[in-house]
Amino acid sequence: RGATTRFIEHHPESQRLHKLSLESLPGGNTRTLLHTAPFPVFMRKGEGSELWDEDGNKYYDLVGELSAGLYGHSHPTLQKVLTETIQNVGLSLGATNIYEQRYASLLCERFGLERVRFTNSGTEANIHCLAAARKFTGRRKIIVFRGAYHGSVLSFGNGIPENNIDQADWVLLQYNNSDGVREAFSQNDDIAAVILEGIQGAGGFISASLKFLQATREESEKAGALMILDEVMTSRLAAGGLKDMLGIRPDLITLGKYLGGGLPFGAFGGRRDIIDVFNPLTPGALAHSGTFQNNTLMLHSGYAGLSEVYTAEVVQSLNAQGDDLRLRLQRVFAGSKFCITGQGSLMCVHATNIGLRAEQITCRDDVAGVEDTELKQLFWLELVNAGFWVQSRGTITLNIAMSAAALNAFVEAVEEFCKRYRSLIVV
Ligand code: PLP
Repeated sequence: RGATTRFIEHHPESQRLHKLSLESLPGGNTRTLLHTAPFPVFMRKGEGSELWDEDGNKYYDLVGELSAGLYGHSHPTLQKVLTETIQNVGLSLGATNIYEQRYASLLCERFGLERVRFTNSGTEANIHCLAAARKFTGRRKIIVFRGAYHGSVLSFGNGIPENNIDQADWVLLQYNNSDGVREAFSQNDDIAAVILEGIQGAGGFISASLKFLQATREESEKAGALMILDEVMTSRLAAGGLKDMLGIRPDLITLGKYLGGGLPFGAFGGRRDIIDVFNPLTPGALAHSGTFQNNTLMLHSGYAGLSEVYTAEVVQSLNAQGDDLRLRLQRVFAGSKFCITGQGSLMCVHATNIGLRAEQITCRDDVAGVEDTELKQLFWLELVNAGFWVQSRGTITLNIAMSAAALNAFVEAVEEFCKRYRSLIVV
């Protein structure tokens, strides 16, 4: 109760703005994930790796816009290119433009794709990929995994069927269970594709084992179904994405988040023969439209970010920094209800009643029912009270503006929390 009281005392303006928002937005909210109790913090501005809220409180930003904020706030390269684009190019041209070709060719080269198409979000990229898989194979069913998040209407974590389009066509399986995949293929001859994340992001940054990914690849290939790897979050982990890091060869991948250089973005690509189902020169081609998917701001900012800022060296250093942070937090959490999963710059803090360790969490089913949600809420409140912007669900994604001193301060704050609440966190 003390933590909640302090939170309320520190955020009177956020509380007032929340009440105001309730008058026009359901729950005062337009992104479910950002809804927190007792009310959400209203942020006013960000700079580098720091944020300021409407009450003037300052935070280190460890949310990193759920991985889209890889560049930090107001990166000078992106600011410059965006300003120049507004001044010299215009916002949306309502026509094909050369900036599309330039960015498409960079994405193809970087991620080893034969063809690529842009969308406005990762959700749309996945929807179009599934449409392509169905058109290409002439089949209907899609294998998907519990805990997966492929976008707002492709969400398999909360058990609410209406969150998913095409409810009848999913074959829902346990993540990291290769036998389940083999069985599903042997029992269904109408499978168009398997769609999966190499690390279930929203599901709590749970990594797929290499064996599971390989089995999924082999089984889908044998059955003539496509493998779609959702790299919306994981493409930041290696210069060519997680698939290159692990040596997996999916038929299609989807991209999103930071690749828009701070602007709304999605893309999907891979094998030319599949993506050609959208080729308008082909009779009966699938339509793929979207007013803003070749908007000039995203095409410039995304291109500048990937070509000038997130170079192979920066990919390496950011993810090494993440690995180091996770190791340090693992030490702090030893013997407690907390643990931390993830890879590189993507991670998630879990709190379970039974004190699960990171390596014991292999799928959503491992944590469902044993989560200590009250402890997680306390962790969130106290870190926010201490000036660290973390996500209430436990997600942490690093940005390249974060200094070593900021990360040290974060580890110290977590240590402080664990000392203070020792009696609550021991298993
Ligand atoms: N796929 C994954 C793995 C994601 O994490 C997300 C978003 O968090 C999406 C797809 C959806 O992307 P967007 O929010 O751009 O629609």
